[in-house]
Amino acid sequence: MPLLVTGTIGIDSVHTPTAKAEEVSGGSCAYFAAAAAFHHNPIRIVGAVGGDWPKEHASLLESIDGLCLEGLERRSDSKTFAWGGRYFDNMNQRETLFTELGVLEEAPPEVPESYADSRLIFLANSHPSVQLDLLRKFPERQLAVADTMDLWINIAREELLVLFKEIDGLIINDSEAEQLTEISNPITAACAIIDMGPSFVIVKKGEHGAVLVHQDGIAVVPAFPLDQNGVTDPTGAGDSFAGGFMGYIAASGKLDFDTMQAGMAWGTVTASFTLGSFGLDGLCATTSDELHARMIEFKTIAKV
Ligand code: AMP
Repeated sequence: MPLLVTGTIGIDSVHTPTAKAEEVSGGSCAYFAAAAAFHHNPIRIVGAVGGDWPKEHASLLESIDGLCLEGLERRSDSKTFAWGGRYFDNMNQRETLFTELGVLEEAPPEVPESYADSRLIFLANSHPSVQLDLLRKFPERQLAVADTMDLWINIAREELLVLFKEIDGLIINDSEAEQLTEISNPITAACAIIDMGPSFVIVKKGEHGAVLVHQDGIAVVPAFPLDQNGVTDPTGAGDSFAGGFMGYIAASGKLDFDTMQAGMAWGTVTASFTLGSFGLDGLCATTSDELHARMIEFKTIAKV
C-alpha cells in the first residue's frame, strides 16, 4: 500500500540534562519517514525546506534507502522550520524553547502527480491547515492517520477539530490528549477524542508504552526498556513510533485491529533506536538486522 507523509523537515536544537546538540537534522516528517523506510518502500515525502537547510541534513536524508524525495520542495528564499527544546531531569518532559515556522507560514508544498495512488496517508505534526489541505487531495485513501502537538492545540484548535472529522486515526501523547480533552485518564481521553471523529486513537505514554483505543478493542504495548545510557535524546521518538507503526501496516497491506496491535510493537522497537542519539543519527546507524534482533528481544521481554 503506497504510503505518503507530510510534516516538518526541521533544524532542531536540543538540550538534555547532560548534553546539547545545535542545529541537528529533525522534523516530524523526517523522523517518520526514516523509521517507516525500515518496513516499507518507498515512503513518499511531501514537505518544504528553505535555502538555509544545511547540506549535511540534505545528504543525510538522501542517504536513507527507500525515501522518495520528489515531493520535497527546496525554496531558496525561505527559512526552514526550526525548533528548540529542553528536557527536564527525567527525560520524559520537555519544554519548547522556540519554534520558527518558516516555510510552514507559506503555501503548502505541491503534491507530485506520481503520488496520486497513495492509499495510506500520515499527517505528521504540522499546521492542521497544511494537514487538511493535503488530506483533501486524496479522496481515494484507505487510511489517514494524524499526529498533533501542544502548539497546534493552542493556536489552531478549530482547524484541528475539522481535521478530526476527516481522519481515521490519531496518534498523540498523553499530555496532549489531556490538553485536548481536559481528561487525565488516557483511555477516557482517547474515547472523548473518538467522539470528535477518528475511529481509533493511540495514546503514547513515553517510557510507559502506548495504548490503542479502537472500535474493535483496546491494545497496549510497553516501551522497550532502555537504561539511562540508552536514552540520549527522546526527540522524534513519537514520530519514529508512528513511522514504524504505519510502515508495518503499509507492508502488511491490512488495516485490521490485529495488524495495528502488531504495528504498535514495531513502532516501539523502531523508536527505541531514535532515543540513543541526537537527530536522525540513531535511525540512520541502525541496520534491518539490528531492528529484527531487537524485536525478538522485545517479544521475549514483553511476553504476558
Ligand atoms: P516528537 O519528539 O516525536 O514530538 O517530535 C519532535 C520533532 O517534531 C522535532 O524534530 C521537531 O522539529 C518537530 N516539531 C516540534 N514542534 C513541532 C510543531 N509544532 N509542528 C511540527 N513539528 C514540530
